Amino acid sequence: MADPLLFNPHTYDPAHFDPETRRLLRATVDWFEARGKRRIIEDYRTRAWLGDFLAFAAEEGLFATFLTPASAAGETEGDKRWDTARIAALNEILGFYGLDYWYAWQVTILGLGPVWQSDNAAARARAAELLGQGEVFAFGLSEKTHGADIYSTDMLLEPDGEGGFRATGSKYYIGNGNAAGLVSVFGRRTDVEGPDGYVFFAADSRHPDYHLVKNVVDSSKFVSEFRLEGYPVSAEDVLHTGRAAFDAALNTVNVGKFNLCTASIGICEHAMYEAVTHAHNRILYGRPVTAFPHVRRELTDAYVRLVGMKAFSDRAVDYFRTAGPDDRRYLLFNPMTKMKVTTEGEKVIDLMWDVIAAKGFEKDNYFAEAAVEIRGLPKLEGTVHVNLALILKFMRNHLLDPVAYEPVPTRLDAADDDFLFRQGPARGLGSVRFHDWRPTFDAYGHLANVTRFREQADALCDFVLKAAPDEEQSRDLDLLLAVGQLFALVVHGQLVLEQAALTGLDEDVLDELFAVLVRDFSAYAVELHGKDSANEQQQLWALGAVRRPVVDEARSARVWQRVEALSGAYEMNP
Ligand SMILES: Cc1cc2nc3c(=O)[nH]c(=O)nc-3n(C[C@H](O)[C@H](O)[C@H](O)COP(=O)(O)OP(=O)(O)OC[C@H]3O[C@@H](n4cnc5c(N)ncnc54)[C@H](O)[C@@H]3O)c2cc1C
Repeated sequence: MADPLLFNPHTYDPAHFDPETRRLLRATVDWFEARGKRRIIEDYRTRAWLGDFLAFAAEEGLFATFLTPASAAGETEGDKRWDTARIAALNEILGFYGLDYWYAWQVTILGLGPVWQSDNAAARARAAELLGQGEVFAFGLSEKTHGADIYSTDMLLEPDGEGGFRATGSKYYIGNGNAAGLVSVFGRRTDVEGPDGYVFFAADSRHPDYHLVKNVVDSSKFVSEFRLEGYPVSAEDVLHTGRAAFDAALNTVNVGKFNLCTASIGICEHAMYEAVTHAHNRILYGRPVTAFPHVRRELTDAYVRLVGMKAFSDRAVDYFRTAGPDDRRYLLFNPMTKMKVTTEGEKVIDLMWDVIAAKGFEKDNYFAEAAVEIRGLPKLEGTVHVNLALILKFMRNHLLDPVAYEPVPTRLDAADDDFLFRQGPARGLGSVRFHDWRPTFDAYGHLANVTRFREQADALCDFVLKAAPDEEQSRDLDLLLAVGQLFALVVHGQLVLEQAALTGLDEDVLDELFAVLVRDFSAYAVELHGKDSANEQQQLWALGAVRRPVVDEARSARVWQRVEALSGAYEMNP
């Protein structure tokens, strides 16, 4: 029987969506299964361009349906809307079959971000038309010499005296830069100093002044370097100017980075079927490898971590879709999906690879691909550091200063998430307020490890009140990031429990997951204890926050049975 908590293509039927969404998701799964495992892996190994997949997507109108907001759709195109729930579902499927497919779709989302946020009706109409023709898009923000420092852009726009510009400069690490019908490019005017000079404009990768230099990575992902040489930017191509252009960049990344969590979930799911099936059927010294207690522990930890990743991400969708000018809680949960869920994904793969060892290198399996690709997700759309630093801005308000909000239900409805394209200024994060996290934990007070973890969360509140970093320490990002990891764990636990309550998640699995989170909290506390600038009070606090999870052999055995049942539950069509 299929595990109800994991995606399984054999039984997948997203009946909770409308008929067209359901059809498109299922058709995508069927396309991959028909293509078969050998071909998929061969394409990955030979770095083949994704033309066949994109042709399928174009024929089905997949990207056009999922990525055209209702406001840009025609009157008869009722299935088109920007619906984060179904976008998340497609991320998971694409991650499951190969991150390269996901990447072409992901950078299309990023490329569309500045367009859908723009008031430029001509550019919006052009983008909708290109999507309808099955074109992909690209997001030209990064540059070779500037990394995360996007303020320092060297893409220069010189006024042409006729209301437009000539753009000259390079972009680096730009996905789909080889093929995009529209590339959203970030630059600055040569005649205006400071933030008022920023410009986001639409370029065409087929224009003669657009020069594709190379693919900077060795992959089916086309992560391009391109150069514009006096590229003509007319008023019709300008998407945003001044501070709004900078906000459009950050708000686009806000929308885009949400996709990394579900992509990493898909990777882990496929890898898990392979890993458990292999380990369970491999006989050493007359017994299956899964008879070893340490193997059971590792696979069980991997499984519950994965269930936690899914629960957190599903719940984050609800906050994303419910967001508005008066509810910006998504600005915390969003970088959490990015840095926490994707780093959990790395741990899941590591745990399984320790078990399957040599098998994880074999070229005929998905696992070897998973082991490589899972590493990318924490590094894209801002590094773990950048996202953790962002999360810290919310810590005090979240932990100590809750306010009342209307309850947020599960959001699988067919709504158009138009707020994501009018998020407004990216500033003011310190003023975002949150609902109280405590009642969610109280509701699961009967689970031993939730209670244990709650002690640690309460201890973190004490830390913030009594031992918070002083002014000098608050410039020491090395120390702060260790605190950020502790805070991220509390937020992770909170949304996992909220989702558990909404879906009736198995309580054995939940308790086993919280045993892992208790260990994680203890480990990060010890890390904080060892930080160079941690003062004596902070060191004492850190060791005092270490807890041992509550062991329950019968519970662990029941969870193990669920893991064991994954053996043979899915194998991709050869
Ligand atoms: C496969 C791939 C695809 C990509 N696709 C695109 C794309 O389509 N479009 C696009 O525009 N970009 C793309 N990128 C670029 C990507 O977003 C950048 O890699 C990312 O922004 C980080 O820049 P960097 O890797 O150069 O690191 P750097 O910015 O050089 O960072 C170096 C170190 O400093 C730390 N750091 C930097 N700033 C801060 C801060 N404020 N707080 C704390 N720590 C900080 C970082 O964490 C890191 O450890 C892609 C990159 C890759 C590898």
